[in-house]
Amino acid sequence: MPVNAKEIEILLNRNNLCAEKNNVNDYHDTCSSPDSGISKSRPSSGSVTPITFSIGDHSESDDEGDSEDSGLVMKTENAETQTMLENLKISQKEEMDGRWTGPPRPLEECINLLHSDVGVKQLSDEEVINLVNAKHIPAYQLEKAVQDLERGVAIRRKLSCMQKDIKGATPDIPYKNYDYTMVQGACCENVIGYIPIPVGIAGPLKMDGKLHYVPMATTEGCLVASTNRGCRAFMQTGVRTRVVHEGMSRAPVVRFPSAMRAAEAMLWLGESENFEEVKQSFDASSRFARLIKIHPRIAGRYLFIRFVAKTGDAMGMNMISKGTEVALQVLQNHFHDMEILALSGNVCTDKKPSAINWLEGRGKSVVSEAIVPANIVENVLKTTTAALVELNIAKNLVGSAAAGSIGGFNAHAANIVTAIYIACGQDPAQNVCSSNCMTIMEPSGEDGRDLFISCTMPSIECGTIGGGTILPPQAACLEMLGVKGANADNPGENARTFARIVSAAVLAGELSLMSALAAGHLVKSHLKHNRSATLLSAIALEQQAANLKITSESIQEPQSRSSKTSSEKVVQSIKSKLTPVSSSTILKPENTLNTKGEAIKRSPSSKSSPVITTMEFLSVPDCKQT
Ligand code: ADP
Repeated sequence: MPVNAKEIEILLNRNNLCAEKNNVNDYHDTCSSPDSGISKSRPSSGSVTPITFSIGDHSESDDEGDSEDSGLVMKTENAETQTMLENLKISQKEEMDGRWTGPPRPLEECINLLHSDVGVKQLSDEEVINLVNAKHIPAYQLEKAVQDLERGVAIRRKLSCMQKDIKGATPDIPYKNYDYTMVQGACCENVIGYIPIPVGIAGPLKMDGKLHYVPMATTEGCLVASTNRGCRAFMQTGVRTRVVHEGMSRAPVVRFPSAMRAAEAMLWLGESENFEEVKQSFDASSRFARLIKIHPRIAGRYLFIRFVAKTGDAMGMNMISKGTEVALQVLQNHFHDMEILALSGNVCTDKKPSAINWLEGRGKSVVSEAIVPANIVENVLKTTTAALVELNIAKNLVGSAAAGSIGGFNAHAANIVTAIYIACGQDPAQNVCSSNCMTIMEPSGEDGRDLFISCTMPSIECGTIGGGTILPPQAACLEMLGVKGANADNPGENARTFARIVSAAVLAGELSLMSALAAGHLVKSHLKHNRSATLLSAIALEQQAANLKITSESIQEPQSRSSKTSSEKVVQSIKSKLTPVSSSTILKPENTLNTKGEAIKRSPSSKSSPVITTMEFLSVPDCKQT
């Protein structure tokens, strides 16, 4: 519709009038509805306003109604005026994708556009920011307001940059070309971009006769290489795994008027017909949730009712929470004086260390094992079964017991679990219990030189559907493992296979790191028994270099980058000093240890002899904190 000069003049006058009123700070008295609840201190339109939003402050939603109300004046203008405003705007602006590129227009005009059908896309970023600051758009709903996910993220970044504390931080956080459709309303709020994490691959991992390539997202150097070495050691004989128990848990806390009454409820739940009644309601809440058992724990008047259920291929927290709510209603029908304090009473136990998960299991309980032939222990892992078994007892069993550990009878299960979890869209916070693991090593074979290794992991909380598994890159990692999504034929089978892969990968990680540590020990004992003073000091230097590497990579503080660099310089300089030392002089084949840890003589031509070259030793891929 054409706009004539007179109409433009009228509209401009009206805008000027409002702008003038803004200048005297009485615009809202005049223009907003009396009950809008918006104070006079609202920033005036047309000016760049101070940033007042706060990230994650959902209290803004309380203002939502106000926002709509405060647009009333312009909204109640007749349709013709609105159309003229639109046309006026179009005639005045330079267009870029239909978006205003001129100086920000008065707030009331922007409000009008915001509430019109077509206008919101025509607002400039600055105008949208003004609307956020004036609480007409909740900051957490930017994407919805501008009807463009990436633009919403971009505007929130601009807003964030204006916050003094995070100024300058966002440019290095990427945000473009990311599929936010799956994130919105499901995975993250107040999005300002995404954090790219390198993904490495370990494998092939031979597990139960199949080969798997395991994706690991990590920033910890050597982790993937180390796990990969463990996989290599298993190639000959493979890893065997079994899920021995399955059941996600949720334990609400309820309270009764007395401890006696709580005890009564607890005993009631123990009766099989009562369990059946609860189970019927619980199971009806989902196609996949199947209640297995109820484990109540009493503490005075409090009762913690641990519902344990199968959840198909989902990790299951959402699903089981729904079932638990329904089950509590059933219980409340019988115990009217029961007070539900919270759906989670921490006996679940989710994302906190707890003995209950270690003892009872949570998610999938998996055991894995492998036999590593002596020649692999010696040639690939550069150690001996005897040294490994001894170290495993000292470190993973005695050491962890001495530390009072719960579920921490391992070298670094959490490293592998977390890297796989991040790559595969699991909840990384669930590494707390999922990393519970006991690593056992024993001599095996006729002469005891082969190694038997097993990992027992009672609480692998994982799923292949729901949560972060819906994001395309994470789903792709699950796809690599052949466990993406729901298993249509046998619900739950994908999640079980995934848990077995996690356990087998942990086994590989345990083997490799323990071998690296044992190899250091081996060199020391070698030194003690056989070496000349010259070689002794050369090897001591080498050990020092390896230790330095360990130290530099163990430091997690911000300055680690610089300290690592300097440590690496030292390592480099020591390496150059060591160059003349030949590999064969460091560990000669004839000085191999037997399974009792005694030096044994072998012919120099022996093929299964351990040879550690200088460079190999320095680059043992297990120099990490454990
Ligand atoms: P979680 O409980 O792990 O948070 P959700 O409940 O959010 O997971 O996601 C699982 C969803 O997937 C549920 O709606 C469930 O009905 C659906 N679903 C489809 N197939 C399966 C399956 N094989 N196993 C589990 N859930 C499935």
